[in-house]
Amino acid sequence: MEARAVKQGGRLAPRLFSCCLALSLALGGCGAREQRFQAQFLGPFDTVTTVVGYTKQKERFQEQVQFLHDELEQYHRLYDIYHDYEGVVNLKTLNDHAGQGPLSVDRRIIGLLRCAKEMEALTSGKVNVALGSVLSLWHGCREQALSDPLSARLPDDRALRGAAGHCDLSKVMIDEAAGTVAILDPGLRLDVGAIAKGYALREVCAQLEEQGADQLLISLGGNVCAIGGMDRARTPFSVGLLDPQSGDEQRYLLTLGLQDCTVATSGDYQRYFTLDGVRYCHIIDPQTLYPARHCQSVSVLARDPALCDALSTALFCLSPEEGLALIESLPGVEAFWLLPGGGRRQSSGFSAAVLEGESLLP
Ligand code: AMP
Ligand code: MG
Repeated sequence: MEARAVKQGGRLAPRLFSCCLALSLALGGCGAREQRFQAQFLGPFDTVTTVVGYTKQKERFQEQVQFLHDELEQYHRLYDIYHDYEGVVNLKTLNDHAGQGPLSVDRRIIGLLRCAKEMEALTSGKVNVALGSVLSLWHGCREQALSDPLSARLPDDRALRGAAGHCDLSKVMIDEAAGTVAILDPGLRLDVGAIAKGYALREVCAQLEEQGADQLLISLGGNVCAIGGMDRARTPFSVGLLDPQSGDEQRYLLTLGLQDCTVATSGDYQRYFTLDGVRYCHIIDPQTLYPARHCQSVSVLARDPALCDALSTALFCLSPEEGLALIESLPGVEAFWLLPGGGRRQSSGFSAAVLEGESLLP
């Protein structure tokens, strides 16, 4: 259930522009009035970023979008575990260096790993960025199944159990004063896919706010973050949670009102492979070492994009009952589950954020 920005009373048509910025003036008007602008780009984190903003000058919006793009691209390179970039020590460099002592890294890597440790503790290990060795076995099977469905297979159980012995996040040592990180276990591999986008959004949105941004809505691969609201009165942005069953029709399960708030969604319907009629998605329960199957999707609503991203992945690995208990223990955090049969669950304060509920459903 990917969240998409929706226009009041209508939809923003998704448009993709490969590796370039695109800007559209969605409403006309004279120079003195605030206007609505929209931009999309593809690149950072290998996904589409959509930005909606209200400003008096188009140039101001363009500057904000350019800044967002350039910053996200830097975070993407730092957190990439698959590619090397000239002159950049990134997470691939760290993984390749596992067991070989500390490496000097960018402060944005230290910040992310500190946040990852907090999130691991908060979720009792359900979201664990040290799970890379296990995740790569599933990643390999998914790639193989997608390129040649007849050769689809599951990871070997012994290999999974072996990899699970190298997922101890406490073996990732951060020396903040020295600006270094050391992976003590040579078999440990970092994979920050569960939290990287949310963490990067948190950092870049804070910078945008410092620069005066106060009416921006940013959607980055399942994470939608509102800086301020749609107008000076801080009217919430409308954000639809997509119904994964609706296919190309793109119906919404419900519409949320977001103002200085983020919603992050984790689901089983975008990255998965199928074998013998069973869907194997990309979110792995660290205890079973198998894809979690408690729900179709779960969305988390809170002020902090990093927390939302981490919690949505963690809740996907918990039963709705366990997840609900966790969410209810956290002030200012709400969640919504779409269960396997289409049933729904939500936390006690979630409905306060719903602008249009059941009436939007077909
Ligand atoms: P998200 O879409 O935010 O739920 O993140 C999913 C991504 O996080 C996957 O593609 C993996 O890279 C990674 N991942 C999957 N399961 C876990 C887990 N239990 N803990 C940490 N990362 C995970
Ligand atoms: Mg996540």
